[in-house]
Amino acid sequence: MARVAVAGAGAIGASVAYHLALLGARDVVLCDAGEIAGGATSKGMGGVRQQFSTAPEVKLAQASIAFFEELGEPYFSQVGYLFLATTEEGLAELEERRELQAGLGVPAERVDPSYVRGLRVDDVLGAVVCRTDGVGDPPGFARELTRRAAALGVEVRERTRVEDVDAGIVVVACGAWSADVAGGFGVDLPVRPLCRQLLLTSAVPGLDPSLPMVIEAETGFHFRSRGGRLVLAKADAEPRWTADPWVDESVFEDRRERLASRYPPAAAVVVENAWAGLYDMTPDAHPIIGPVGEGVYAACGFSGHGFMQSPAVGRAVAEELLLGEPSFDLAPYRLERFAGGAVFPETLVL
Ligand SMILES: Cc1cc2nc3c(=O)[nH]c(=O)nc-3n(C[C@H](O)[C@H](O)[C@H](O)COP(=O)(O)OP(=O)(O)OC[C@H]3O[C@@H](n4cnc5c(N)ncnc54)[C@H](O)[C@@H]3O)c2cc1C
Repeated sequence: MARVAVAGAGAIGASVAYHLALLGARDVVLCDAGEIAGGATSKGMGGVRQQFSTAPEVKLAQASIAFFEELGEPYFSQVGYLFLATTEEGLAELEERRELQAGLGVPAERVDPSYVRGLRVDDVLGAVVCRTDGVGDPPGFARELTRRAAALGVEVRERTRVEDVDAGIVVVACGAWSADVAGGFGVDLPVRPLCRQLLLTSAVPGLDPSLPMVIEAETGFHFRSRGGRLVLAKADAEPRWTADPWVDESVFEDRRERLASRYPPAAAVVVENAWAGLYDMTPDAHPIIGPVGEGVYAACGFSGHGFMQSPAVGRAVAEELLLGEPSFDLAPYRLERFAGGAVFPETLVL
């Protein structure tokens, strides 16, 4: 088999390279124009959830859970994802999604949210938890998979653009840079960078490290614990379509107030840090996975969900490249779907 150059050493590229090596590929280069985990992978929330609104998205995350479970701490903590609905409409949507997820085998269940100490629940009409969801450490994960890939013989090259690597097959796993990189190989990919930001609070005294990821279903406001602090996120009122990420400080007070209201034990925190990164969005918010040109393969467009999907994606891409057929059905993620207008829009982009 020709030499494979995996472009981009984020969670996706690291997983592809690792799985290629696991399956016995002998000539693989994992290169990154910058450093390992230097892109979106170092900016992410680290959420791992199977609770999506469409089957293809549920399945990718579902197929990744066993890998995360095996990897365990400190890369993954199975604290669960808890969705709270405060309106009848929100509750109906939550229940509809829960039925879809449960039908696919995801253990998403209705729950009394007062099991989470300190959480305000008096306005909550209903809640759904999936206890096998959780939170992880994306850069730690990418470095660990890169280390394992290197131990299996993958050549790792930082500060190396894929354009400068001699290879027969290029796997474009360049996150928000994927359209530019693929363009250099004559392939047009509908992937656009979207700026998103996260806020880190000051320490929360007595914070339970097993706090689930808490999501307000109607507003999308969500938070997780990380090292005794909370990481907060909410989609912008107006999407910021830009390749130059920047932090919008004007929303800090709003996010702090939302937190104080939903989680009173954190009422006194301040925003200590904030950073912005890029989602690699596709028109339907589902990834593009598969051959896209002569010797060019795409694994990009993860639209804010790439960490949680990276184990299954890495395995499926490696299987397709080496064995000709993946054990996971990649049909819903092919580039061709955009030509025919066949879309299945995932509505739950957090
Ligand atoms: C604020 C934020 C919150 C997020 N929250 C979550 C979440 O809760 N859960 C989740 O699953 N996902 C989340 N994500 C998305 C997630 O971080 C990514 O989808 C995931 O880390 C996979 O990234 P990647 O490997 O595709 O791309 P990246 O990590 O961006 O890596 C791409 C790499 O390609 C390299 N590159 C660029 N050009 C070239 C070139 N010419 N040659 C070689 N290399 C090149 C870059 O240097 C970069 O390192 C979030 C993202 C952001 C920004």
